[in-house]
Amino acid sequence: MQTQQINSTITPFHQKLNFPLTKKQITVLQINLGKRCNLACTHCHVEAGPKRQEELSPQVCAQIIQLIQKFPQIKIVDLTGGAPEMNYGFKPLLEASRAAKKQVIVRSNLTIYFEKGFGDLPEYFAKHQVRIVASLPCYLEDNVDKMRGTGVYKNSIKALQWLNKVGYGKNPDLILDLVYNPQLPFSDKFSLTPNQTQLEHDYKVFLQEHFDIHFNNLFTITNLPVGRAKLHLERKKLYAPYLNFLESHFNANTVENLMCRDLLSIDYLGNVYDCDFNQMMNLPAKTFRGENLTVSLLLATGSLDLIGEVQTAAYCYGCTAGCGSSCGGALV
Ligand code: SF4
Ligand code: SF4
Repeated sequence: MQTQQINSTITPFHQKLNFPLTKKQITVLQINLGKRCNLACTHCHVEAGPKRQEELSPQVCAQIIQLIQKFPQIKIVDLTGGAPEMNYGFKPLLEASRAAKKQVIVRSNLTIYFEKGFGDLPEYFAKHQVRIVASLPCYLEDNVDKMRGTGVYKNSIKALQWLNKVGYGKNPDLILDLVYNPQLPFSDKFSLTPNQTQLEHDYKVFLQEHFDIHFNNLFTITNLPVGRAKLHLERKKLYAPYLNFLESHFNANTVENLMCRDLLSIDYLGNVYDCDFNQMMNLPAKTFRGENLTVSLLLATGSLDLIGEVQTAAYCYGCTAGCGSSCGGALV
């Protein structure tokens, strides 16, 4: 009852904006290769884990490679998952993108390098000059292990030291960024994601002093109520209060830089979305003519710029609260 009342007070996101959220020219392809992951983090919006089987097929992988080769306007290919490294197509996509002179981002959970069959990854990444964006949701062990599982912090530290050893965080061509995620709330005392510049400083001081670890940038990300984060909030009866909190901190200045404006998000079946959150909530991108966008359609029409308006939902308040949030961190 109370949830319904609070729910009804949330302004539909498109109404809040007061104008259609349009796309700019597409420059980023973010590919979600599948849901397989060696971890099963409590906040995961993909609901990824070791038992998940969904992954790219050889056919869809070949189509995405065609896209990458065909469109010079694509500057960045961003590989995510699950653990992208564990899913079909990872190395072919990475190598095809580098051969086509794209910047490649790999969203890595770091611990994968210690799983059987993946011990070559740090050297492989360095060889291909891949940009690594690695999750480390806190610089303290307790918080990381609570969110990601026992022992994850220690392995993450070992992985970062390994990446430093092959040149990451030191050589200007080998960029290593870290990602901070807040803990999921257990009461309605919500807080905004901390200031990115200040937190980056704190991470750098702590990691250097304790482990001699160097990295480039810290990205602070807000938990959007999607996937496991949404399930957690619903279980604690905090889903609607959290959305209310996010809406009450809506910052119109973030809208210009929202990641959905110049990105296409592709799933393992070749469907296209405005972002990875819409992908997980099954809200497909629509063409100007109202069709669901797919990789096949992009290839057939010879254009990446077929979307009139970004599809939005209440969770978009997570990207626009306070300093904003995206796969590249704060927006303002
Ligand atoms: S948050 Fe990342 S590392 Fe954790 S389960 Fe999800 S995909 Fe895997
Ligand atoms: S969730 Fe964020 S990135 Fe996705 S459509 Fe909404 S505002 Fe854009």
